[in-house]
Amino acid sequence: MPGFEVFGEEERKQVNDVLESGVLMRYGFDNMRNGHWKAKEFEAAFAKRMDSTYCQLVSSGTSALTVSLAAAGIGAGDEVIMPTFTFVASFESIMMLGAVPVLVDIDDTLTLDPAAVEAAITSRTRCVMPVHMCGSMADLKALKSICDAHDLLLIEDACQAIGGTFEGKPLGSYGDLGCFSFDYVKTITCGEGGGIITNNKEYAIRCDQYQDHGHDHIGNDRGAEKHPHLGYNFRISELNAAVGIAQLAKIDDILALQKKNYTIMREALTELDGVTFRRVPEGGVENYSFLNFFLPSEDLAQKAHKALAQAGVDACFYWYENHWHYINSWEHLRDLNSLGRLPAEIRDQIQDLSNADFSKSDAWMSRAISSLVKIGWTDDQVRERALKMKEVLSEILKTVYTL
Ligand SMILES: *Cc1c(COP(=O)(O)O)cnc(C)c1O
Repeated sequence: MPGFEVFGEEERKQVNDVLESGVLMRYGFDNMRNGHWKAKEFEAAFAKRMDSTYCQLVSSGTSALTVSLAAAGIGAGDEVIMPTFTFVASFESIMMLGAVPVLVDIDDTLTLDPAAVEAAITSRTRCVMPVHMCGSMADLKALKSICDAHDLLLIEDACQAIGGTFEGKPLGSYGDLGCFSFDYVKTITCGEGGGIITNNKEYAIRCDQYQDHGHDHIGNDRGAEKHPHLGYNFRISELNAAVGIAQLAKIDDILALQKKNYTIMREALTELDGVTFRRVPEGGVENYSFLNFFLPSEDLAQKAHKALAQAGVDACFYWYENHWHYINSWEHLRDLNSLGRLPAEIRDQIQDLSNADFSKSDAWMSRAISSLVKIGWTDDQVRERALKMKEVLSEILKTVYTL
């Protein structure tokens, strides 16, 4: 996820446009800003690229999730179904609103298992929030039919899979709302930033208002604007939006390079008995930001992860033991270790995460390794990397697959 790898002249030029006028805010100051509306410009370009009617930029991917949930009317005590394998932002954004995260198992797609989602639905469930982790997607068709049958919202977290598609639609545009992160390590970056896409005008208006203290943004006197409902400040600055405009122009080149480098690594590992790949749901196309594969057992996956690092193959992740991406290491969530008192709805309703059975997730996560796909690698470098990965893994697998 290499936006930072391609930061260059184009980004500097966009930022300089903003620095020249000094109007760092996305609203107002019409006669001082030399006609530059960077946030607005990004929103129009992003909505177009994502085949969506509306885009709302915000300050982060996490706030994109919160603003989406708020815009859809999710509040205290409402249950939102999310996966065990994701980034902590999933439950943070839900709990921010007093809503209750309900964690359910993932399957061999490394995303929400539709059967587990269906089993977790209660009378309080309002929303299903799949997370398209590591460049590939949840089974959106199955999830959408569950959501339709139970009258639930579908909010996609596409922060790690921008540019991937499902049934020909850009990820993020399939559900009711789709969320993206433009933080510094994502496929395209604003430094910090996030985006929401939707085709629903009502949600779009509410996103626009909620992320700016409830401002209705009608007229051209900010101080005189009305506030139809309570809001918050999740605005992006013009400086960050400016970076994003330049990055967005590079997205298709980035995706093409990711696909090329991913394919070289995948072809090398395909030849190995014992290595299998993460399942991509039918109708899905990855964005190729990671190559995700399974070893036959937890023990072998741990050994492989260590051996890859020792052999100098960098940027391989074993998420099962990672602090930020899997339930196993979220003791702060399990213990509800918050700085202040949490809303009663969360304390009363949250599942007993210390004793919940996530053995189905464990079975996949304990065997999964992900290699980041960088775009700065030369052809020779990626071929050498692929060869080294193959050597290291075949050495590890020898212990089970003896000739
Ligand atoms: C990065 C990320 C987020 C949060 O984005 P920030 O911009 O860092 O707040 C949310 N979900 C997933 C899956 C992410 O990878």
